Parts: sequence; structure tokens; C-alpha cells
Amino acid sequence: MSTVTEAFGSLVFNDVTMKEKLPKETYKAMQRTIKNGKHLDLEVANVVANAMKDWAIEKGATHYTHWFQPMTGITAEKHDSFISPTDDGKVIMEFSGKELVRGEPDASSFPSGGLRATFEARGYTAWDPSSYAFIKGTTLCIPTAFCSYGGEALDKKTPLLRSMERINKQALRVLRLFGNTDVSSVKTTVGAEQEYFLVPKEMFDKRKDLIYTGRTLFGAKSPKGQELDDHYFGSIKPRIAAFMNDVNEELWKLGVLAKTEHNEVAPAQHELAPIFSTTNIAADHNQIIMETLQNVAKKHGLVCLLHEKPFAGVNGSGKHNNWSISTNTGVNLLEPGETPYENAQFLIFFSAVIKAVDEYQDLLRISVASAGNDHRLGANEAPPAIVSMFIGDELRDVLEAIETESAYGVKEKELLRIGVHILPKFPKDTTDRNRTSPFAFTGNKFEFRMLGSAASVSDANTVLNTAVAEELKGFADILETAENFEDTLHDLIHTTIKEHKRIIFNGNGYDDSWVAEAARRGLYNLKATPDALAHLLDEKNVKLFTDNKIFSETELRSRHEIMLENYCKVINIEALTMVDMARKEILPAVSKYIRSLAETAVLMKQAVENADSSVECELVSKLSALNSSALAKVKKLELSIAGAKAISSYEALAMYYKDTVIPAMNELRITCDEAETLTAEDFWPMPSYGDMLFGVR
Ligand code: ADP
Ligand code: MG
Repeated sequence: MSTVTEAFGSLVFNDVTMKEKLPKETYKAMQRTIKNGKHLDLEVANVVANAMKDWAIEKGATHYTHWFQPMTGITAEKHDSFISPTDDGKVIMEFSGKELVRGEPDASSFPSGGLRATFEARGYTAWDPSSYAFIKGTTLCIPTAFCSYGGEALDKKTPLLRSMERINKQALRVLRLFGNTDVSSVKTTVGAEQEYFLVPKEMFDKRKDLIYTGRTLFGAKSPKGQELDDHYFGSIKPRIAAFMNDVNEELWKLGVLAKTEHNEVAPAQHELAPIFSTTNIAADHNQIIMETLQNVAKKHGLVCLLHEKPFAGVNGSGKHNNWSISTNTGVNLLEPGETPYENAQFLIFFSAVIKAVDEYQDLLRISVASAGNDHRLGANEAPPAIVSMFIGDELRDVLEAIETESAYGVKEKELLRIGVHILPKFPKDTTDRNRTSPFAFTGNKFEFRMLGSAASVSDANTVLNTAVAEELKGFADILETAENFEDTLHDLIHTTIKEHKRIIFNGNGYDDSWVAEAARRGLYNLKATPDALAHLLDEKNVKLFTDNKIFSETELRSRHEIMLENYCKVINIEALTMVDMARKEILPAVSKYIRSLAETAVLMKQAVENADSSVECELVSKLSALNSSALAKVKKLELSIAGAKAISSYEALAMYYKDTVIPAMNELRITCDEAETLTAEDFWPMPSYGDMLFGVR
């Protein structure tokens, strides 16, 4: 462990480093900024910047960058050197407070959904002092938010920070009602478990689909898949273990504590779980994790696939977003308490989450929507596209007792009265780990499992924080004016459960009967991204975001456009890649094999008059039929791609890609995959599913 403690955070300008490197007064000012969001004076910023620079140079840094998360979902950085010229023709290493606090990247090529065109030509980045600066290679990275000069958010972090402010404000109001005066801030916490695949680099390099799109667009099933469940928690191969050790070391240096790592259900699939932290930091850390996985993989001759569905017929990859709410005094507000009052407080926060998830199911679905994740949601292994909540049997019984005003537990005839009775302790690990639920209560936190493996966690948490803040606001409004607090509280929880219990489903989310049942309950089933996005601008959703000052209507519209545009672009690239691979690799390979078979048959006849060439003949006829069918389907796909050009609105275009292009892609794949199963291995132009999934030995 000593190496861990030494290495941990060694490349982070964290609290320990600040204490060591900053003058006492500056350190205190920084603390006030980090803990209470107090504005930092430029003079203080100058001192911090200088100390940060000296520390970074000591660690080998030569450049700095404002590290931000544009709406592409990945991070962006523009490196500037610390070097400044002096009058006498020499250079000095400089970094000012102004450069620390604010940056002006040339942002014109980041997606803005028309925002920058309408407002200002340029955007700026603003330091997020609550997320520590860190060193990557030779660059000091300063976590920032990215806005236009008009103040519109151009990134994923700004709305997340806004949502954290909202939930802080409303949660504090509720806590005050419970006589809680010592808490000064409330923050949501997130631990995002990351799933990924590893494939050998030499195989990746032979697959254009992986190179261009991150997933395989062709590929017949391998004889063995995941059916034996022998990979899940199986022993980790030495090569993978070496990779994981390196990942851990790199992450520790950056202050990210990777806690558990194990194999996942699918062969070649693994998972990394970090220790949770404040949501904006967790979002930054998740970006660092994804980048580190990819970089370290390369050093080991591997490629880390973060796509949600790299292989058809094999489990996809998600990100399990563990989410809770904590006070600065260290109380987890989603932890059932010991006293009646604590229990009542727990129930009010719990009910707010139930109401939020029910009222904003569509937004939660939208927050995880992407072309990649569409393959996963609704497929066999991932939570279905229907949003529902799993709360376990114990809590269900409690809620039922409150709703029906009936007896709970052993104390017969005694009604469960909120604020009077103590709830039983809910066992954390006996809850049967319902892996099929998209949104599961796991004892003292919720696990939102619909997130895709490649996406930033910011969107989902922005929605979650905002929706829960909105419900807490509604509760606080009622409770603050209540004549009898306890009665009003009881009624409030009672009514909330009655009105929103439809969102609670403890059964098997993969079951077909659930789809019908969910429809009866009036729950959304938004299968694909365009279906989900059709609801982003619904009146209630616009109201939620504008009332809570997360997005202006303009910002929201721009995001809507960016998401649709991104969906269309992704499918378009995939379709073009399929055409390219089919025409340049698959059709010629099959054709070459047919020729070899035909030549063999002829040569056999020449050698022996009555030679039996039935194998060759049968394959020639089957494969030539498949190849001509494949060509027809390539042409059909080409036509459908061309058809997109005539469509001008993004809404219609996204629907077109979903309803016309994707089916044409699927048809082509079926034919080519069938040809693969009949073609000799030597002739097939790319590594097979079996090669890739079982390639790391
Ligand atoms: P489980 O037994 O539910 O798997 P773990 O303790 O193993 O719980 O945690 C799973 C993930 O949830 C980890 O990434 C962990 O950091 C995160 N987590 C635990 N507690 C919280 C919390 N209060 N808020 C957010 N995430 C949390
Ligand atoms: Mg998990």
C-alpha cells in the first residue's frame, strides 16, 4: 500500500499540495472558494497561479491547458506554453491569475447548435476551482467550464454545476424544516462504474469498422460467446492484470481512486469502479478514466473499446451511475436513519426522487440517448428503454403501508406514522441486486444504469439533480407554510407515493410482459434516440430547465439540435463504412474464394475424370448467390444514404436514418455475415468475432 499512498494524487494540485505551496491567507481564500463557492479575487488568483506553475514545472510540465467538456462529450484542451518572452530576448516561465481563471479557446469548431452564430463569435473557459488541477504528461490541466460571451453554456459542465447549485438550495430548505441548522451545503455524489472491452491492437488495425465507428458493423457469431458465464468475475489473465495495474497507477497519480476491477459478463469485457466523489469531480474523473484506459491499453498492445455495443449478440458496455445526496457534515441523505425524525427526513428525499424519476422519465431517457446506446437499451442485457425504479421488498412494504394507511411489520394494528415511528433498518445487500432495473435503490444510493459507456456522465446527472431539486422545491413550498408540520409531512409523502408509485417496478425488466405492463401504467417506452429527443422540448421539460435556470430555451434548443445532428452523423459514418467494407473487402474476398473453389473443381476433374467436386460446386453456388445478394443490398444502402440529402430538418433526418438507413444496414450485415460462415478463414479479410473476443491470452 505504501506505493499507493505515495503515488496517490502526486500529479494533482490538491488540498495537501495547496496547504504546502500556498501562503496561509491564500490557502484560506481558496478553501472558501472551493467549499462555499466564494468569488476569488484576482490578486489571490495570481498567487495561486504562480504556485501552481512552480509546482507543475517541478513535476515536469511545460504547458498548461484549460481542460473542458464540449458537447462532443469528450474533453478538449488547447495547450499554451508557460514560456513568455522578456525584453532582453530571453524567456521566463509565467502563468498569471488571469490565465488561470479565464481562457479563450478558438471554439469555432465545437458543436454549438447555432448558439455562437446567434450570439458571440467566441467562447471562453472559466476555472472550476472545486475540481483540482492535474498534470497529464507535460501539461498542467485546469478543469474549466465553457461558455459563450453571452453566457450561454457551450459545454456539459456548466449545466451540471448549475444543477448542483439548485439541489443545494432546495435541499437546504428541506433540511432547515427538520431543524437542521448546522449543515451549510448539500452536494450530490457520484461513483460511475465504467465498462469496456479490450482487443489486441493488431486485430483492431485490420477492422475499418472499429477504426471509424468504434463498433463492428459486420461479424458472424463465434462458436463460443458468453453463454457459459465463465468470464464474469473469472480469473484475470496476466496480460489484463498488468494492464489494470498500470491503469490503477496512472489513475492514483491523478487522484482517482480505482477501487475494484473485474471481468464482466462478455468475453474481453471488464469493469472499473472508482470511489465516489462530488458529482462535478466524478464527471471529470470519469473523463480521466476513459482517457487513461485508452492510453494505457495502447502501451500494452491493446485497444480499449468504449463503444456501447462493439459486438452484436454480446453484452454491451454501460456506465453505472451511483448517485446520492450528502451534506457537508457527512450525512448521506439517502441513508435511512435511526430516529423517527431521521427516517422522516430520509423518506422526504426518497419520495422526491420517486416523483422526479416519474415526472421526468423522458428526460432521463434523453440524457442517456445516443446512436451507440440505442443498441444497448432494450437489448437483452441492458436495462430496457423504459425508465422504472427498483426499491427492494422492504421499502416497497413501507411505502405500501404509508399509501394504504395500513399496518406495517410486527407492530400489529399500529399504523405507520411518519415522524413518529422508526423504520426498520433496510438491509443493504440482501436486496436481490436487481440487475434488470434501470434505476435501482441499493441501500443508501441509487444506481442509474442506463448510461452508455462512452458518454459523459454530466447529462444524466444534470437531469437527475435538476428534477430532484424541482420536487424538493415543491415539497419545501408546502412544508414551510404548513400549520401542522407532521400532518402535512405525512400527507405529502402519502400523496406522492399514491400518485407516483407507477414508476416502481421490482420485477424482471427484461420480461416481455413488463413492456405491456409499463404501457398500461402509462410509462414511456422511447426505444431509439429520435423517439426520445422528440420529447426534449415538451412544455414541462422546457419549464423545468428554464425555471431552474439550467438552460435558457435557446440553450435547450441548441442542445436538441446538436443531439439530433450527432445521431445522424454517427449513422451516416457507419453506413458509409459498411458500403466501403462491403465493396472493397467483403465482396472481393468472397469472389476470390469462389474463384479458388471453381479452379479447384476444374483441376480435380482434370486430374481424375470422375472426381467428386460437390463440396466446391455447392459452395460456389451458395456463395455466388450470397455475393450477388450482398451487392444488391449495398446498392440499396447507397440509395438510402443518398436519400438523406433531400431532407432538411434534423427531426425528419434522424427519423429517416432510424427507419430507412439502419434497416438497410442490418440487411446488408445479415448477408455478409452468412457469407463469412461459408468462407475459408484464410480468405476472410478481417479478424473474426472469435479472434477478437478470445484474442487476449
Ligand atoms: P455496491 O455494493 O452497491 O456495489 P459499492 O460500495 O461497491 O456498492 O459501490 C459501487 C459504486 O457506488 C462505487 O463506484 C462506489 O464508489 C459508489 N458509491 C458508493 N456509495 C456512494 C454514494 N453515497 N454516492 C455515490 N456513489 C456511491
Ligand atoms: Mg454495477
